[in-house]
Amino acid sequence: MTVPAGPWRLVYDRYVPGEEALREALCTTGNGYFATRGAAPESRADGVHYPGTYVNGVFNRLTTRIAGETVDNESLVNLPNWLPLTFRIDSGPWFSVDRVELLDYQQELDLRQGVLTRRLRYRDTFGRHTSLTERRLASMADPHLAALEATITAEDWAGHVDVRSGLDGEVANTGVARYRDLASRHLAEPELEEIDATTIGLRTRTSQSRIVIALAARTQVRAGGQPSGTRRVVHEAGQIAHEVRSYLTPGQSLVIEKTVSLCTARDPAISEPGMEARRALRRAGDFRGLLRAHTIRMGNLWERMHLSLAGDERASFILNLHIFHLMQTISPNTADMDAGIPARGLHGEAYRGHVFWDELFVFPYLTLTMPELTRSLLHYRHRRLPEARRAARDLGYRGAMFPWQSGSDGREESQTLHLNPLSGRWRPDYSDRQRHINAAIAYNLWNYCQSTADLDFMSCYGAEVLLEIARFWASIARYDRERERYVIEGVVGPDEYHDAYPWASEPGLANNAYTNVMAVWVLCRGLELLDQLPPQRGAALRKELGLTPGEISRWDDISRRMYVPFHGDGIISQFDGYPKLQELDWDRYRARYGNIQRLDRILEAESDTPNRYRASKQADVLMLFYLLSAEELRSLFTRLGYPWDPGLIPRNVDYYTQRTSHGSTLSRLVHSWVCARANRPGSWELFAKALESDIADVQRGTTAEGIHLGAMAGTIDLAARGYTGIESRGNVLWLNPCLPCQVPALSFSICYRHHCDIKVRIAGGRIRVTVPRSDAAPVTIGYHETLVSIAPGETFDAPLPERAVLGQPSRLR
Ligand code: BGC
Repeated sequence: MTVPAGPWRLVYDRYVPGEEALREALCTTGNGYFATRGAAPESRADGVHYPGTYVNGVFNRLTTRIAGETVDNESLVNLPNWLPLTFRIDSGPWFSVDRVELLDYQQELDLRQGVLTRRLRYRDTFGRHTSLTERRLASMADPHLAALEATITAEDWAGHVDVRSGLDGEVANTGVARYRDLASRHLAEPELEEIDATTIGLRTRTSQSRIVIALAARTQVRAGGQPSGTRRVVHEAGQIAHEVRSYLTPGQSLVIEKTVSLCTARDPAISEPGMEARRALRRAGDFRGLLRAHTIRMGNLWERMHLSLAGDERASFILNLHIFHLMQTISPNTADMDAGIPARGLHGEAYRGHVFWDELFVFPYLTLTMPELTRSLLHYRHRRLPEARRAARDLGYRGAMFPWQSGSDGREESQTLHLNPLSGRWRPDYSDRQRHINAAIAYNLWNYCQSTADLDFMSCYGAEVLLEIARFWASIARYDRERERYVIEGVVGPDEYHDAYPWASEPGLANNAYTNVMAVWVLCRGLELLDQLPPQRGAALRKELGLTPGEISRWDDISRRMYVPFHGDGIISQFDGYPKLQELDWDRYRARYGNIQRLDRILEAESDTPNRYRASKQADVLMLFYLLSAEELRSLFTRLGYPWDPGLIPRNVDYYTQRTSHGSTLSRLVHSWVCARANRPGSWELFAKALESDIADVQRGTTAEGIHLGAMAGTIDLAARGYTGIESRGNVLWLNPCLPCQVPALSFSICYRHHCDIKVRIAGGRIRVTVPRSDAAPVTIGYHETLVSIAPGETFDAPLPERAVLGQPSRLR
C-alpha cells in the first residue's frame, strides 16, 4: 500500500521493478492535450518499463487475422517517445536504473504543481558515486510543450560524461499483454533531422488515419551555469539524438534541460505540424520559465477543482490524486479538441483509448467545477450524430444509436472477440449490445443544461441529440400484446457478465430493467424538451427531424407502458428471466480463488458461464438509484403504473449487493452511493475501497494499463454531490447533506447557472452555501422541502438535519 506523504505528494522511496508499470500509470503527467507515462527517461518498452505518450483523439486502425477471423481495431496511438535521456561516464555503459547499485531512490509526484521528480544515488562497478535528480512536466500553460531537467553530480570522481538526449519513433502499442497478438505498429518510418546545433526533430504519421505527428527537442547542457560540451548528432533506426560530451570533476554537476514540442495535424490553427513544432520550441523559454507558467495554471485549476475533505488523510490524498489525473486527461487544453473522455485516461492502452459510458461518472464533477469543459466534450457526441443515425438505420431502427465503444469517427469500436487470459481462449464479445449508453448520453446532456441553464447549447446542439436518442428508444421498443406493455429485447445491461440466456442460441437479453426505465426517462425528457424549446427552434427541429404528432404520442404511450420485470417481494429483476438463473455458491468460489472480481474469466476457464447465475459484475438495477433521485423514480414508476414503496430501494440494494462481484471499478462507487444514507458505515467502507481502485491496483494489473477515470472522477463526485446531496432539478439547487461520521468537514466550490465559485461548506453540524457577488440572478436553494432565495453576496446557513447526523434513510440523492 502506498503511504501518502501529506495530501499533495505521491512518493515511492524504493525502486521496485515489478511495480514500475503501475507507478508509470499513476505518475503520468499530462495537460489535457497529451500525457506521458511516468517512465524512466532512459528506458524503452522492455517488460519492466513502458514509456507511452498519447494525444487525446489521435487514433489509428489496424487489421489482424486472429482465431480464424479478421479483427479490426482502432487504437489511441502510442506516439514517439520524447523522454529519452541518459548518460555515461568515460564511454562506459549508458546509465539505466536497472543496471546500477542504487544507494538512494525516490520518485515523487507533486500533485499541486504537476511535477514528477526522480532522485537517486548509485555506485557503479568502478566504485564511483553519482547522484541524479530529474524533474519533468507537461505544460498546462502551453499544451504543446513538455520539459525534462536532469542534474548529474559526480560525487567522488572525475571523467568525461556523454549525455544522450533523443526522440524515439521506434515505438508500438504493446502496453497491454492481452493485445500482443494484435497488430501494433501504427506509425510510419519517421523522418529525422537535426534542426540546429541544439535541436533535433522527428516527423511521422499514423499508417491508416494519416495524422502527421511532429516533435522537436532542444537539449542544453550546463556546468557551473555555463554551456558545456561538444556535441554530435546520432541517428539510429527510427531514433535521433544529440550526444553532448562534457568533463566533470569531483563535486561538479551537469544540468541538462530538454524542452520538447509536440504537434499533430489534428491541432487547430496551425499550418503544418513540423513547422509548428519548431516554432513552438523556438518560442519556449527555459525550464524555470516553463515551470513558472505551468504551476500558475495548475494553481488556477486547483482553485476551481479542489475538494477538501477533513478527517481521513488517506482519503483526502487519494481524492487529490484523482482530481490530478482528471486534470491530466481533461483540462482547458482539451476544450478546442475533437476529443471524448477516454475511459482509461491518457495513461495507458487498455480499451485502446476508447470512449465508453464512463463519461457519465466524469461529467457531474466536471460540470460542477468546469462546466465549459463539459460543454466542449458533449460536442464529441454531437459531431458523431450522423454516424449514430447510420448505426440505428443499419439495424432497422430510427433515430440515433451511439456505439458502446467510440473512437475517431463514432462507429462501433467494441471487440468482436476478446481473450480470456485465464483460459487462453478467444471468445465472442457481445458487449456492444449495451444500448444503455444512449440513455447515458441523453442524461449527460440534460444534466449539463440543468446545472448551467445553457439553453443555447441545448437548443443548437443538445436537443437534436436527445430527441434522436428518444426516437431510437421508441423504435427499439416493441409492443407486446400479451403483456400489453412495451418491451426491449436483444440488449446487454451495465452488468457485462450477462450477455445471453443460457438456454438461448442468440446473444442479448430482454427487458434489462435499467435500460427500460432509462429509456422511459429519456422519452419523458424528450417530451419535456419539445415543450421547453423556444417555439421557433422547436418548430424548426420538428421539421428537420420529421417528428410527427403520431410519433410524439407514441413516445408518450411508451413512457407510460414500458415493461419492468419484478420478482419475489418487490425485487426489480435485472432482466426478464433473471429469477430462472441459479444462485452462485459465492463462498465456494471465494474460498477457491480468493479474488473473484473477474468471475466471468474464472467461470469461462471452467467451461462455465456467468450467464447461468445470479451474479453481477457491477451495479445494474442499482444504477437507477445512482442516477435518479427517489422522487424521480417514484414519479416514473407511478407513471408506468408499477407499485412504489419506500422500502423498494433498500430492498433492492440489499438483494443485488449480495450478488455482485465488483468486477468493474465503477461498481463499488455506485454501491457506496446508493447505500450512503441507509447504511453509512457500509457505504464508507465501499467508498474507501473504491478510492483504492487505482492507487492499490485492486484489480491486480489493470491500472498499469491505464487509470480508471470513471472511478476516479466518480469518487470525487461521491464526496461532492453524494455527501451534500446537491442536485440541480427544475430551477432549484437542492441540498440534502449526509456526511459519513469519518468526515467532520467538507468544502468545495461550484459553478451553477451563471454563478462561479459558489462556496459549499459543511462543518460543525452546519451547511453553508455562499453565493459570490455578481449581477447574476439569486440562487434558489431547496432544503428540507423549503425553498430559499439567496442573492449574490449572501450566504445560506442552516443546521444539518437530524437525519444527516443519525443516518436515517431519506431520499437517496
Ligand atoms: C465496465 C464498463 C466500463 C468499461 C470501461 C468495463 O470493465 O464493465 O462499465 O464502461 O470497463 O471503463
